Amino acid sequence: MIGYFILKFGVLNKLMTHDYRLAREKMVKTQLIPRGIKDPGVLAAMGKVPRHLFVEEALRGEAYNDHPLPIGHKQTISQPYIVALMTQALGLTGPENTLEIGTGTGYQTAILAELSEKVYTIERIRPLLEKARKRLWDLGYTNILFKAFDGTLGWEEYAPFDAIIVTAGAPKIPQPLIDQLAEGGRLVIPVGGKFSQDLIKVTKKNGSLIRENLGGCRFVDLIGIHGWKE
Ligand code: SAH
Repeated sequence: MIGYFILKFGVLNKLMTHDYRLAREKMVKTQLIPRGIKDPGVLAAMGKVPRHLFVEEALRGEAYNDHPLPIGHKQTISQPYIVALMTQALGLTGPENTLEIGTGTGYQTAILAELSEKVYTIERIRPLLEKARKRLWDLGYTNILFKAFDGTLGWEEYAPFDAIIVTAGAPKIPQPLIDQLAEGGRLVIPVGGKFSQDLIKVTKKNGSLIRENLGGCRFVDLIGIHGWKE
């Protein structure tokens, strides 16, 4: 009898994992490729990381849908396309030291960890950070360092960074992040008002900054000394 349940549960589990894998493949094929995501590393990482394990159990069925989802503490996990777009803009090739501000669930962190040498991630809401830390450890990631802090100050100790990503909307680019960007480094950040922002990519070349606008977006607030006030 017990054996039957173990067998049954094992088979169900396998079937569900299979369904999520199919949902993930479909997400890559229908949401990412047609909208211009073509970096093979980004497509492979998005096709690999089990996004459903980063949301509450009740929301797992929606994890691969084309929209953001609530993650508690009035925060959200970004829509898959936005995660892919921002990651592609970072131009990761493998050896990068990458800084992420706004760990949230750790989903974007996992994508970065697939494509960078080392990821430094900062989250101001400690319970979110601790959940993400456990989740990423359980998934086997060992190249991530976590910090509960105000990420608008960056992480001086490990600077400079080849890539910096901010996953919350800022009124302006925090100066410490510009200072901590390596020569040749890329910074991607939503900048604008509270209700809509532009996704900005900044590249540091010969000490000066090249700014590109990747389009409109909507993120939760970046709160901190160089962000919005609480
Ligand atoms: N990238 C995340 C979602 C981020 S939501 C994911 O994949 O799940 C934005 C996150 O930024 C929230 O968790 C919010 O608490 C955090 N945040 C806002 N201001 C911050 C700051 N100054 N420093 C660090 N984290 C911040």
